[in-house]
Amino acid sequence: MRPLVVGNCSQIVTMQGPQRARVGPEMSEIGLIHDAAMVVRDGKVEAVGPRDEIEWLAPSDAEYHDAGGRLVTPGLVDAHTHLVFGGDRLDDFEARSQGKTYAEIATAGGGIWRTVAATRPLSTEDLASQAAKHFDLLRRHGTTVAESKTGYALDRDGELRSLRALQTLRPRVVPTLLAAHAYPKDQDPQAYLDMVCDELVPLAARAGLARDVDIFVEEGYFSHEDAERLAMAARAHGLGLRMHVDQLADSGGAGLAARLGARTADHLEHTGADGIAALAEAGVTPVLLPGSVWGLGLSRYPLGREMVDAGLPVVLATDFNPGSSPVPSLLFCMALACRLMRMTPAECLTAVTVNAAATLGLETSHGALMPGMAADFVVWEAEDYRELAFWPDVARPANNPIVANESCPSEP
Ligand SMILES: [Zn+2]
Repeated sequence: MRPLVVGNCSQIVTMQGPQRARVGPEMSEIGLIHDAAMVVRDGKVEAVGPRDEIEWLAPSDAEYHDAGGRLVTPGLVDAHTHLVFGGDRLDDFEARSQGKTYAEIATAGGGIWRTVAATRPLSTEDLASQAAKHFDLLRRHGTTVAESKTGYALDRDGELRSLRALQTLRPRVVPTLLAAHAYPKDQDPQAYLDMVCDELVPLAARAGLARDVDIFVEEGYFSHEDAERLAMAARAHGLGLRMHVDQLADSGGAGLAARLGARTADHLEHTGADGIAALAEAGVTPVLLPGSVWGLGLSRYPLGREMVDAGLPVVLATDFNPGSSPVPSLLFCMALACRLMRMTPAECLTAVTVNAAATLGLETSHGALMPGMAADFVVWEAEDYRELAFWPDVARPANNPIVANESCPSEP
């Protein structure tokens, strides 16, 4: 394939800086190059820099793409989504808008059980096409790689079908087993957890169906003891641990994630100073999900500013799911984080690229545009990277975006 020059870029943000950058006010840490160009060869970045240097050095047989004075960033990485489910929750949404409580909605057959009932009957092929449809929504907003959890079948075979459905989206989607999303109401809770730890985790690990496991730790859901048990099973089979913690109350979930050596602690809306210190001490990455706070109509956002200041490599993700977060756009999450979590545009961009990629083991290939890394990038309808968080509906991937990659060159 001929090499490609992407020229006439108002800015290229390379994210070249400290790996898993703990970005402060220093803009140079995001590797911002004005009036820039990039050379791509065999799906990888060969060179990136000021336009007058790069275009002059470019190979003579290169194809030239004029970015038209637009912004180029790495493809965005969404490190927390739920792509595999059937049906929708529009009835719940309408009921909530009429003032019904979550308990009333659940009693009327709504909530997660509505989704479980719509997911369980689906074949692997149907689940795969649902997941692909949802991933496509993310791609339209500039996401090129995502993590996705299972967790809407809540039985052995349905969770396995969900994992197999996610295999069809590899390598763009990294699968996580979230069988411990809620206790199924049609099964004994202890027997279900036994099955997850003793059957599903080993099966998923042996077949290479998941990279990590996840668990929803909250009052009325899974306990600290349940999480310890799942963590042991995951460790025994070589899977990493991600955790939904401290979403609805500060139940010591951040401390638990630190103690269990989790890869990520996600949500953290109610995590305070002690929890932040524990995460920093243990090197657990916080994954913050402002879209679900917004989606639930709540007002308590996680302490993003404090976490960045504590030196944590903060990640922002959409939590895309049918209930609490109908949000496919990382840009919208960045917009919320800038306004309600006091994070800067540079910190937000770091949170959805290099930091997010590191939680998926992709730190040497994705989330940054440095020589040798995947040429996985987005040309935006924007000139300045701060526009991404400023007006997320305006700053969208351009009509003629290029997302080149070693595995699947295509348009988002
Ligand atoms: Zn989630």
